[in-house]
Amino acid sequence: MRLTQVSDNCFAVLNEENRACGANSGLINLGGGVVIDTQAGPSNARQMIGLFGEVWPGMPKRVINTHEDGDHVWGNELFEDAEIIAHRTMPDRMKHAADPKEVQKVLKAADHSLTRLPLAGIHPGAMAIARQLPRDYDFEKIKLVLPRSLFDERLVLDLGDTEVHLIHVGPCHQVGDTIVHVPSEGVVFAGDVILRQCTPVGWTGTYEKWLKALDLIISLDPEVIVPGHGPVCGIEGAMEMQAYLEYVREESEACFRQGLSSLEACKRIDLGPYDDWRFPARLYLNVERAYREFRDEPADAPWDPAKSLDSICKVAKARGIEVEF
Ligand SMILES: [Zn+2]
Repeated sequence: MRLTQVSDNCFAVLNEENRACGANSGLINLGGGVVIDTQAGPSNARQMIGLFGEVWPGMPKRVINTHEDGDHVWGNELFEDAEIIAHRTMPDRMKHAADPKEVQKVLKAADHSLTRLPLAGIHPGAMAIARQLPRDYDFEKIKLVLPRSLFDERLVLDLGDTEVHLIHVGPCHQVGDTIVHVPSEGVVFAGDVILRQCTPVGWTGTYEKWLKALDLIISLDPEVIVPGHGPVCGIEGAMEMQAYLEYVREESEACFRQGLSSLEACKRIDLGPYDDWRFPARLYLNVERAYREFRDEPADAPWDPAKSLDSICKVAKARGIEVEF
């Protein structure tokens, strides 16, 4: 993890290795402090607090969760004195999408299988993820702390002379997707609406909605964007994300018209300029989302997580790349 200053009063803690749960956090160092996203558990959150502690006067008054994924909210428990702010859907969504017991269940079951006590119902995808994640994260001691200050479409925080605009843009990556715009600092904290140097995942929502959210970020014309994962960028980061989504949707459509399954499509699609992004096999989720749209199915029908992870494994194997999520 590394601390970086992105404007006069805004900072970011970046997980430079860009691992699966290595989300970035932000700090607006005004009005008692606002932290944006709290890392994938208390031990990562403690590191983040240590780094921001180099520049802030004390624990922040407010926390914003950009969306409901565990890697952005599992450090909330260390901020219990702060006002935790998020979109109205978040408490409910977090109980499902970020239920620590679910992860612990998968890890435990996989652990038993690894010690040669195979349990029914453990999929290869779940096994692979269970081998990977505990190397980097401690999911054992997570206590889910839900946001209590909720907003609908927009919320403006007044930090003395500085306004902070929270804009709900979901569902595009997740239901709660919120971007945090600090106009006077020229900064947008984008959450997972923008990922850099790693393959994005859309769990809920549609291509259309995601592309629109990126249009909005571009129209705000920020000097700096702090993405949910990967290095800090300017608006070229939003444009690159749009280009990826449009490219995958077009390639998927060509495969769909040829009658290929989404899995077959994933084996064929040339990743071109996105070849060196991490987690390339996540392509499956993006192709499958496009296929749902071509089949006129609801794009945000719930995923079968075990099946999706298995498909990611299959894509990785077929393309001869490391299984990574
Ligand atoms: Zn994330």
